[in-house]
Amino acid sequence: MLELKVLGDHSETEVPQGGCSSGSCGSTDDQLSHLSESVRQRVFNHPCYSEQAHHHFARMHVAVAPACNIQCNYCNRKYDCANESRPGVVSELLTPKQAVKKTMAVAANIPQMTVLGIAGPGDPLANPNKTFSTFRMLTEQAPDIKLCVSTNGLALPDYADELTKHNIDHVTITINCVDPEIGAKIYPWVFWNNKRVRGVEGAKILIDRQQEGLEKLVERDILVKVNSVMLPGINDKHLAEVSRVVKSKGAFLHNVMPLIAEPEHGTYFGLMEQRGPTPKELQELQDECSGDMNMMRHCRQCRADAVGLLGEDRGAEFTMEKIEAMEIDYEAAMVKRKKVHDAINAELAKATTQSQSVNADHAIPAETRPVLMAIASQGGGLVNQHFGHAKEFLVYEASPEGVRFISHRKTDLYCTGGDTCGDGDSLLGGIIKALEGCEAVLCSKIGYEPWETLESAGIMPNGEHAMEKIEDAVWAVYVEMYQNGKLTDNQTQMTA
Ligand code: SF4
Repeated sequence: MLELKVLGDHSETEVPQGGCSSGSCGSTDDQLSHLSESVRQRVFNHPCYSEQAHHHFARMHVAVAPACNIQCNYCNRKYDCANESRPGVVSELLTPKQAVKKTMAVAANIPQMTVLGIAGPGDPLANPNKTFSTFRMLTEQAPDIKLCVSTNGLALPDYADELTKHNIDHVTITINCVDPEIGAKIYPWVFWNNKRVRGVEGAKILIDRQQEGLEKLVERDILVKVNSVMLPGINDKHLAEVSRVVKSKGAFLHNVMPLIAEPEHGTYFGLMEQRGPTPKELQELQDECSGDMNMMRHCRQCRADAVGLLGEDRGAEFTMEKIEAMEIDYEAAMVKRKKVHDAINAELAKATTQSQSVNADHAIPAETRPVLMAIASQGGGLVNQHFGHAKEFLVYEASPEGVRFISHRKTDLYCTGGDTCGDGDSLLGGIIKALEGCEAVLCSKIGYEPWETLESAGIMPNGEHAMEKIEDAVWAVYVEMYQNGKLTDNQTQMTA
């Protein structure tokens, strides 16, 4: 039997990097820091739940569930479900058998893949036969893969018991409101007891079922993450309440995501030009909710058929045509996978032990204001990318308490090669808009023209920390800003 070559074969001691590619997205994995040790043990190697893990472990989604039992105003299933996926057609809908073959092929080729999720493009629990037959086969044939499901929650109470029978210990429920009046603005109808129920009545059924499903899962010791789509003017003022309610019922993580809606998506909100939140609005809401709840900040709103580390999509390497031609020795793959996982776990444990307070050597007065900085990084937790080559920036906040990861901001490439590089005033305008709120951008290098434009827009370029660890670089720039009197009106002498 042909043994598949493990792509990006890593020796047992070498830890793969990638995704948003920082070795550590924050000096503290603060979204998990309040969890009990037992919960932390269950999520530490889940790329969606641990900021540390998402740089090292990969996930994939399989699109086996096309039908849906509700209508969301941000969804058009011709495109991916917007609650879990950025718009873009699912390349291939799969049968359960195909999904299992694809999952095992990916797991054999990308040994750092630990998690398989079913997230649409419809609702997995509105397609129970397809969903559970995929899970059943995978539980038997690939017991080292964790299984996840994302649901709108309408059918959830009916399947809570079935979910406990598989290798599933995490479920995501999309809960955008706990108030039916608000729900009626998001969900025009739900399909319930063989008929469409519209408006407030339909929204109430959905909300009640979501809450009942959440409680049932918690009773059965399944971890629940709640996703919410932030809709300015509709539920933005209400989501802190949602956070409180779902926390009180036992959800362990809340992921507030921005609405993605463009007219060309053909969704109601897209056509009505419902706007998404600005990065600042999103961060403010996440900060408001984080007083009550562990917040997820690195969700990439992946496609429903995403493959790879967060922030990368290797789906094109695993089309069904290519997979059909593969023979998979999964026994051999499991041995390889275990070695890779052990090496990553050892590296993560070391990183946790070394986790330090970057604040230790430079005390900054507590009243000093925080600063956001954008980082161009292509891996390893380092400031190591040319400004013009960044397709996204990592945003960190420095404050007297230290440095923490805030979010990713996607942008267009400033330098697309040769003749277009530097000719991009409008591109640069887009990047400046994407970096709204940031006062510095740290990169390995930057050209003169973008430097000037960024500086006049109030974003200070900085290439002095190339190849340094992100947290150290951010902190050094923060200290320098403080020392130069840029952070407070009434600074006291630094105690360095
Ligand atoms: S959509 Fe969010 S939760 Fe789902 S795999 Fe991507 S990052 Fe993880």
